[in-house]
Amino acid sequence: MSLNKNNKAQKTAIILLGIGAALIAATAPAEAREVNLYSERQPFLMKPLLDAFSKATGIKVRMVYLKKGMVERLRAEGANTPADLILTADIGNLHNLAKAGLLQKSSSLVLEANVPAKFHHPDGIWYGLTVRARVIFAHKDRVRPGEVMSYADLAKPHMKGRVCVRSGKHMYNISLLASIIAAEGEAAATQWAKGVKANLARRPQGNDRAQIKAVYHGECDVVLANTYYMGKMATNEKSPVQKKWAASANLIFPNQAGRGAHVNISGAGITKHSKNKAGAIKLIEFLSGNSAQKIYAEGNFEYPVKKGVALHPMVASWGSFKADQAYLSLIAEQRALAAKIMDRVRFNN
Ligand code: FE
Repeated sequence: MSLNKNNKAQKTAIILLGIGAALIAATAPAEAREVNLYSERQPFLMKPLLDAFSKATGIKVRMVYLKKGMVERLRAEGANTPADLILTADIGNLHNLAKAGLLQKSSSLVLEANVPAKFHHPDGIWYGLTVRARVIFAHKDRVRPGEVMSYADLAKPHMKGRVCVRSGKHMYNISLLASIIAAEGEAAATQWAKGVKANLARRPQGNDRAQIKAVYHGECDVVLANTYYMGKMATNEKSPVQKKWAASANLIFPNQAGRGAHVNISGAGITKHSKNKAGAIKLIEFLSGNSAQKIYAEGNFEYPVKKGVALHPMVASWGSFKADQAYLSLIAEQRALAAKIMDRVRFNN
């Protein structure tokens, strides 16, 4: 009966509580309506994707572009980091961030459906968003059809003085060597690195594009580079000379008679100290979805991680290829050993 007596007072309290909750919802949202992003991926590529996300969800994204030093920055900021989410341009830094305990697990049915198992961490610590293959570019005339079909061919005697490559310690080459360790073991991977070094036309230097430039200028016949550089060079209006570099080489998918070409990812992970995990998951889900995957494919000549999304016509023109089926999380476990092997064989000296 005291209930009855106080009924009105209770109702008032509930209404007040309701208003309080609404006030909290209206003031807390600085967090809920905003995701903070540290990105190794460039602003030109991310802007259309983030704009589309904000339009679809009403969640604002603040992006800081970090070309280097993601691990060091997150470590230094600790629990005070503003970052909810990180984007990297390679499996290497995803793996390093995960190993350093700077990322946290997440699970999502959308991500399970969109991102194949071999392209995400088994516990959901990182997720791949785009895929690229590390392939061979071979001069159109100086390399005969069939002369170079595999990574192993780069280490064979007929390639003596004909191979160019960027630093053996660069994350792209570390990933490739890690994939060879995972498939063939340490001894075979060491022999391969020694063999490639013995065939180099010059000391490792420059970036991937600089290798293809060297093919054009006749310094070498075959080089390693990621697939998307072919598209970026062949359509480069800012630096049209790059069209000539691209036109001088054929893109060869290695290991098609074996385990397939080595593929790598760009990807995302949620920071350990994220203040908006729910918003961060929403953003990764969005980036793995159809509309974002299409923007990625059109903007950067990469392969969508999600099945069924159309390729850029130029990417499609390179033909379909067989990719190494090994889980990237397992390949990444061999990265530290790969770096040691590169040192041991004095690859860059
Ligand atoms: Fe790149």
